[in-house]
Amino acid sequence: RAKRSGSGHALYDTGMRTFREEHLSLLGDLQQAVDNNELILYYQPKVAINGAGGDEAEALVRWIHPRKGFIPPGEFIPFAEQTGYIKELTRWVLARAIKQAGQWLREGRPVKVSVNLSTRDLLDPGLPATVASLIDLANLPPDYLCLEITESGFMDEPAKALDVLHKLRTLGLSLAIDDYGTGYSSLAYIRRLPITELKIDRAFVLELAHSQGDAQIVRSTIELGHRLGLKVVAEGVEDQPVVAVLAEMGCDRIQGYVFGKPMPAEAFDQWRNARLQ
Ligand code: C2E
Ligand code: CA
Ligand code: CA
Ligand code: CA
Repeated sequence: RAKRSGSGHALYDTGMRTFREEHLSLLGDLQQAVDNNELILYYQPKVAINGAGGDEAEALVRWIHPRKGFIPPGEFIPFAEQTGYIKELTRWVLARAIKQAGQWLREGRPVKVSVNLSTRDLLDPGLPATVASLIDLANLPPDYLCLEITESGFMDEPAKALDVLHKLRTLGLSLAIDDYGTGYSSLAYIRRLPITELKIDRAFVLELAHSQGDAQIVRSTIELGHRLGLKVVAEGVEDQPVVAVLAEMGCDRIQGYVFGKPMPAEAFDQWRNARLQ
């Protein structure tokens, strides 16, 4: 039913009205979601290969819509990007995650928290100042914050994005390249970016224990990352055999259902306590 026009806008022959109305109302809902406390951050452990776990986590946003119920980020983040609402959304996520990290630190169980930036955030010249004031407000040393970005963030205006990244890095934060291997990963980019961490996409990790090809790719990626002085994290690990292979390859951290799903902050505390016992 949907066709793409040359300018990239979807054209609808039938049902266009309902489609537009649906989206307009969703945008209204999203704008209110923050005020109505419908957004919540979940935290998924990034477990060190030789550690108990719980010292690092990725913040992942969830939207509990009053009528539609649970809406996964994969559905409303792209929508927020298209409508320009992402700037406010990212600000909320940053503020919430930084506050939580500050609280964990004060409670004597520090967690380094990772926050996802969207491609459009990298083109916002005001972002570094925003982050600086948020960590200042929360009394959070920059070592406890990591920002995850994707390579597609640079495609439109690489010079502008690079400038924002350098300013963020100068604040002392960690910067991770997310979904590594799925984009137009060029080695030249990786070398030029002021990043500290590389996250290997789930697509390469999934069949790791069975596919020789994927195993070669992951092994060389870990080696490359280490040669460039980066920490390497594998995403989407679901079973022990893959953990064993990644450990043997020298991967630094593992994030996946095998250790823990994304969970609310209180559940994350319980998860950690259970592992420390
Ligand atoms: P991502 O940054 O690549 O996040 C990892 C996704 O993989 C999460 O999905 C997580 O729940 C899922 N995952 C983790 N371990 C496993 C596993 O072992 N198996 C499987 N099948 N999946 C696993 P989620 O939470 O639905 O988020 C999807 C995407 O939405 C994220 O991908 C990220 O691109 C975006 N996103 C989520 N929260 C935010 C946010 O606060 N801001 C922005 N800009 N984007 C966000
Ligand atoms: Ca991520
Ligand atoms: Ca990812
Ligand atoms: Ca992703």
